[in-house]
Amino acid sequence: MRKISIAIDGYSSTGKSTLARQLASALGYIYIDTGAMYRAVTLYALREGLIGKEPDEAALAGRLPGLDIGFELNKGNGRSEITLNGENVEGEIRTLEVSRHVSQVAAIGAVREKLVAQQQKMGSRGGVVMDGRDIGTVVLPRADLKIFMTASAEIRAGRRYKELLDRGEEVRFEDVLHNVRERDYLDSHRAISPLKKADDAIEFDNSDMGMKEQFERIHAFALRVIDQKKGAS
Ligand code: C5P
Repeated sequence: MRKISIAIDGYSSTGKSTLARQLASALGYIYIDTGAMYRAVTLYALREGLIGKEPDEAALAGRLPGLDIGFELNKGNGRSEITLNGENVEGEIRTLEVSRHVSQVAAIGAVREKLVAQQQKMGSRGGVVMDGRDIGTVVLPRADLKIFMTASAEIRAGRRYKELLDRGEEVRFEDVLHNVRERDYLDSHRAISPLKKADDAIEFDNSDMGMKEQFERIHAFALRVIDQKKGAS
């Protein structure tokens, strides 16, 4: 039987990647973190001096053909980690500095074109859990299960703040909250592939729901969809 594909979209810091990783591991599927891909392009642009007040779209678009974004397995923790031209940049893409610019970079048409094509190729054979902003609407519009995650901005900023502190970054809660709100706005108002719930996605507000309960409910959904496919094949 063909393995199903699962699309998880939603606002930043709603716990999409934790859920997607857990689901992929429980089902024996591949997890693809598309946000990491946009972050890696942003890190590249920052390193190359292509972002002033705003990204230099033309210069960045010109460099894209030679830019290699990929994933490699970290054998230590069993996770797949992002690479930029062969270098593992998993740690470097999670800083507040990258978060500050990523939504502007992700709004550039040429960047989306390159990454969406790569994501569609990775998802073409099923057996994937992919998380991002446009997975259910644009990247995998025929995904077998679509989840759309939300939670209040304060709760999400609190989660991201703790994550950054745990990693040793010195940040202020207000700056993290501001970044979460700003990215929400930019991601849902951009011209190309704005963040929005696909009509056939199931919405989950996890402001008051624990990660364990959420995983159990969505895992149960996924098993039901897999069963239905079995029955149909
Ligand atoms: O998921 P994460 O918060 O790491 O994503 C970082 C940013 O990348 C988002 O705020 C959004 O601007 C962009 N993104 C996107 N489309 C995706 C995934 C992420 O535009 N599929």
